[in-house]
Amino acid sequence: MLATAALTFSQALLARILRPGDIAVDATAGNGHDAVFLARHVAPNGLVHCLDIQPAALDSTRARLAAAGLADMARLHDAGHERLGDIVPAADRGRVRAVVFNLGYLPGGDATVTTRPVTTLAALEAARRVLCPGGALAVVCYTGHPGGADEARAVAAWCAGLPFAAWRAARYELVNKPGDAIVSFFVENIPARPAA
Ligand code: SAM
Repeated sequence: MLATAALTFSQALLARILRPGDIAVDATAGNGHDAVFLARHVAPNGLVHCLDIQPAALDSTRARLAAAGLADMARLHDAGHERLGDIVPAADRGRVRAVVFNLGYLPGGDATVTTRPVTTLAALEAARRVLCPGGALAVVCYTGHPGGADEARAVAAWCAGLPFAAWRAARYELVNKPGDAIVSFFVENIPARPAA
C-alpha cells in the first residue's frame, strides 16, 4: 500500500536518504521507536543523537535500543530540542543527514507534557542548521490533543516560509479517514550548485 499512515510515509522517505555511517537526530525520543528506526538505518558505524525532556522517555528509549542490540548506535541527551544546536557536538554540526520530530506527548506517560510551538519552532530552526547538504527533517504532528492543532499550524507556516531555492517542504495527510489526527511534513535541503 503506497497511500499509508503519515508516520509510515515519513519513515519511507527517511529510508531513502539514510545511509550506513550517517549521523541522525531524534529530537523527541519518547519510547524509542524512531531512535531504533534511525539506528538501524545508520548502522553499523553511524550515530543517532536522541533528545527528550523526560527521564522516563530516555529510559524507555535506552531499553528499546538495547533490546534491538543497537545501544552503541545512540547517544541520549536529557535536553529540550530547542537546545539542539548546542547539544549536537560541534564535530557533527553540518553533517547530520536527518532530524526526526514526532511531536505531542509521551504515549503511556503524562499527556499534559507535550511539545509546544515556541520550542518546536526554535528546534526546527536549529535542526535545519545542523543538516548536511541534501539532509532532511521529518516532522509528525498530532492534532487531536489540546494545543496539537495550533502546533501543526505553526509547523506548516514555518515550512511554508523556507526559501524555495534551498529547501523543498511537503505535507502529507490522509484526507479520507474520518477523525485522522496526524499530519506529516518532510523538509529537504537542496544542495547549492558548485559555481561554474
Ligand atoms: N519519537 C517517539 C517514539 O518513537 O516513541 C515518540 C515521541 S512522543 C510522541 C513526544 C515526546 O516529545 C515525549 O516523550 C516528550 O517528552 C517529548 N518532548 C516534549 N517537549 C520536548 C522538548 N522541548 N524537547 C525534546 N523532547 C520533548
